[in-house]
Amino acid sequence: MKRIHPSGPIAGTVRLPGSKSITNRALVIAALASGTSRLHGALRADDTKAMIDSLNRLGVAVYWDEGDLVVEGSDGRLGTGDVGIDVGGSGTTARFLTAAVTVRSGQVVIDGNRRMQQRPIGDLVRVLGQLGAAIEVLGEADRPPVKVHGPALSGGVAMLDASRSSQYASALLMVAPYADTDIILELQEPVVSRPYIDQTIEVMETFGAQAAWDGPTTLTITTGGYQSRDFAIEGDASAAAYPLVAAAVCGGTVKVGPLPEGSLQADLGLVPILERMGARVDRQGDTIVLTGHPSSLSAVTEDMNAAPDAVVALAVAALFARGTTSLTNIANLRLKESNRIDALVSELSKLGAEVTAGPDHILIASDDLRPAEIDPHNDHRIAMAFAIAGLRIPGVAIGDPDCVAKTWPEYFTMLETIVTPLVVTIDGPGGVGKSTVSEALAARFNLGHLETGGMYRAAALAVLEAGLDLEDEAAVAELIDNLKVGIDDGRVMVNDRDVTAEVRTEAVSAASSRVSAVPRVREALVELQRRWVTKNGGGVVVEGRDIGTVVFPDSPAKVYLTALPEVRAVRRVRDLGLAESDIPRIAAELAARDERDSTREVSPLRPADDALVLDTSSMPIEEVIDAVARFVINRAPGE
Ligand code: C5P
Repeated sequence: MKRIHPSGPIAGTVRLPGSKSITNRALVIAALASGTSRLHGALRADDTKAMIDSLNRLGVAVYWDEGDLVVEGSDGRLGTGDVGIDVGGSGTTARFLTAAVTVRSGQVVIDGNRRMQQRPIGDLVRVLGQLGAAIEVLGEADRPPVKVHGPALSGGVAMLDASRSSQYASALLMVAPYADTDIILELQEPVVSRPYIDQTIEVMETFGAQAAWDGPTTLTITTGGYQSRDFAIEGDASAAAYPLVAAAVCGGTVKVGPLPEGSLQADLGLVPILERMGARVDRQGDTIVLTGHPSSLSAVTEDMNAAPDAVVALAVAALFARGTTSLTNIANLRLKESNRIDALVSELSKLGAEVTAGPDHILIASDDLRPAEIDPHNDHRIAMAFAIAGLRIPGVAIGDPDCVAKTWPEYFTMLETIVTPLVVTIDGPGGVGKSTVSEALAARFNLGHLETGGMYRAAALAVLEAGLDLEDEAAVAELIDNLKVGIDDGRVMVNDRDVTAEVRTEAVSAASSRVSAVPRVREALVELQRRWVTKNGGGVVVEGRDIGTVVFPDSPAKVYLTALPEVRAVRRVRDLGLAESDIPRIAAELAARDERDSTREVSPLRPADDALVLDTSSMPIEEVIDAVARFVINRAPGE
């Protein structure tokens, strides 16, 4: 189980892992080619390991050399002899190699894990059969394992149902330059994930083959084989989705690359969608720069046929958008690492979203989100995407986090480099209930809690004990410069002495608002507060007078609590266990402090422009806590 810490604005640069789909395409093509190829920037993860191990078993030498993959091409043979291959959960390895080994002499059995044995392969077997290949389906209902008897790939015209997976077309395309004659491939519509086919053609052409569209559904591939190349692999656009969505929903700016302009990777289709939702996108060379505006994200209606792997990340972004997001034409998501439509319905609902799905679409709206433990259904994309939900919703945990190794083993380490701890700021006058609300919120969301008033009170106590004149700013400042003030586990400490009880007296209260008006005192204590938050790691709730305006002005979750003076006086009297007859005196004390705190020159008490302002005069405390908790997740005041 991996607990996700909530994040404030995103800040950082992500060097993406190499594209999975390009790495596995380049591996197959380089393994078939003549000569030795070198692949730079290749992905090192479970799915590419499955391909490398399988090629090695076939007898093709593939190995890592200083971060590059070296492939000793087999000149169209892919080894010889009878062999069995276990592709684990790698769909591209299963499909691409089923086609590729039709040129190999010998029998090859291709099998995978349980999920792979549920993913169909019959359409691919049938199209290869039309071209003379001899393949037996050993699994039930058109599923792996399959047994390929080679070599046999003649050429000519073939028809393929491309509605379930573009990987079948890609698999056939890649082996086609080694068929006896040219191949004309007719795709029956609808063609799913077409950009992946274009990507396959691009890699084939780089290695010297000829393949081209001869119309909207016809592809022609010329025989002639491949020649080895040194080939640079782009960053993975499907992986880019997660840091991009992180910045879209948390705000801040993220830079991701290398993703060259003109890249054919299908999941780049997510970028304009995030723009339509309200994010801003720029390009700096090979790098995409996204700046998020989380409080103004709006829902979208999108046909996701061309970018299916981006759907899970987009569904998580939809959680935080205003309105109902509709993602259509996604039936093939049911055939991925998990049944992604069902997995999305179950996990988004756990977070409080209203989700409905049909055979080929999903609708997502949300009003009242809450934390949950997420089951990734053994699907790396579900784990990666819901970790992003946890950056907005404090308290989310991901079960089986290691499943991200399928495509991005360093995913959670990467996340740590771009998040900033979420700081919830709670400001307001004395007696308004800041501490009660802050403590409840910290407990509910498992956040740290810092009460900055204690620091000013500690300073005031030291000034009183030293017998200094409160008007003597220079003397007060000097004393504070040499004072060790700390808040440790909720205890107020001065020079390692616990003064938690002493700082609550009326004399200290009155003095604190004088001492706190001295600029050098504020400078010293603000610095201390920022350091406390940095040291605390995860998210925190910080309460005071100037936390949203001065100490953490970049916080996306600023709250300002107010209440009528007479209401606050009653609350304070109750808190301190005083008598009803004390109310007028306490009211006067609060009023005097209010006046000093809000009229002082440095950091006066006032709400930040983007704060949620709540008048709690007639609100029960539970209602206040709920409203603030909702705001922390929504991060949009005025809703
Ligand atoms: O919150 P509390 O009542 O304990 O704060 C005591 C005094 O400390 C306040 O009246 C205010 O003058 C000062 N203070 C401040 N800035 C903060 C927190 C408290 O000036 N962030």
